Amino acid sequence: MNDIGKVDPDYVRSFQFVNRLLPSTWIVIRIDGCNFHSFSEDHEFVKPNDEQALNLMNSCAVAVITEFQDVVFSYGVSDEYSFVLKKDSQFYQRRASDIVSVIVSFFTSTYVMKWKDFFPQKELKYTPSFDGRAVCYPSTQILQDYLTWRQVDCHINNQYNTCFWELVKSGKSKREAQKFLKGTQTLEKMELLKKFGINDYNSLPAMFLLGSSAFWDKEETSLLHENGASDGNCERKVIIEHCNIIEPDFWNAHPYILG
Ligand code: ATP
Ligand code: ATP
Ligand code: MG
Ligand code: MG
Ligand code: MG
Ligand code: MG
Ligand code: MG
Repeated sequence: MNDIGKVDPDYVRSFQFVNRLLPSTWIVIRIDGCNFHSFSEDHEFVKPNDEQALNLMNSCAVAVITEFQDVVFSYGVSDEYSFVLKKDSQFYQRRASDIVSVIVSFFTSTYVMKWKDFFPQKELKYTPSFDGRAVCYPSTQILQDYLTWRQVDCHINNQYNTCFWELVKSGKSKREAQKFLKGTQTLEKMELLKKFGINDYNSLPAMFLLGSSAFWDKEETSLLHENGASDGNCERKVIIEHCNIIEPDFWNAHPYILG
């Protein structure tokens, strides 16, 4: 081993690459479960949508929002969650690796801690992991386009998965079901679901159709009295909604979120 006293710390530190995210841009941290196709089978998730597994994800997202004040909005579906940090956030001086790693590790450890609350009868068989990435969106419009992309993805996947698992439940093998659905359009999938008694796809639970949005329910300042004292009876709360975030209505009704 080298004599430790001979190593110049500045020289060793000079190898560290500081990856700062572009200033004054929305930061999105998207986390996604690693190999949850297997994890969900090993833990016998209800297919195509295990409600409790989604509730657990949502609960972890609420914990993230509560812990990290710069997170202003989050959207989740399946084994993923996107966390939006405010444009002017100085969290970790906007160093991507610090922000991603602290959010993804906090989310993961919360997932493990809360597992027994959502699955009291199910043993957590092994430690789950999530990966994470940071992306900057330079305008509110582009950020909303990003969220639209995720919600459209939720819809497409849910439609496919609902058909897939109805076919499997009817006796087809997974391979046959996959082959059957290959190249089918939305209308054909809707017709197929009718054959399985799902006449109105849109009557499925909103959480499955639209994913989950978690955010603070009110603007912080709206809870302040005119004299600046905060109202002890009116604590801020993170809420979860399953709503359309593609149409402007949601954003118009909650102007403070991206305001
Ligand atoms: P990767 O490591 O590349 O992300 P993955 O196996 O996690 O691989 P994803 O594309 O992220 O693949 O898909 C997640 C999978 O986890 C889904 O296809 C689904 O099978 C399963 N899954 C996640 N959440 C649920 C849930 N609430 N109910 C049922 N299955 C779920
Ligand atoms: P930051 O979030 O900036 O990393 P920190 O409080 O974690 O802040 P560090 O510089 O990482 O600060 O120092 C870790 C601290 O944790 C140590 O100063 C020490 O007080 C405590 N600590 C860590 N491991 C041990 C241990 N094995 N035994 C006792 N104390 C420990
Ligand atoms: Mg992944
Ligand atoms: Mg995954
Ligand atoms: Mg995924
Ligand atoms: Mg540190
Ligand atoms: Mg430390």
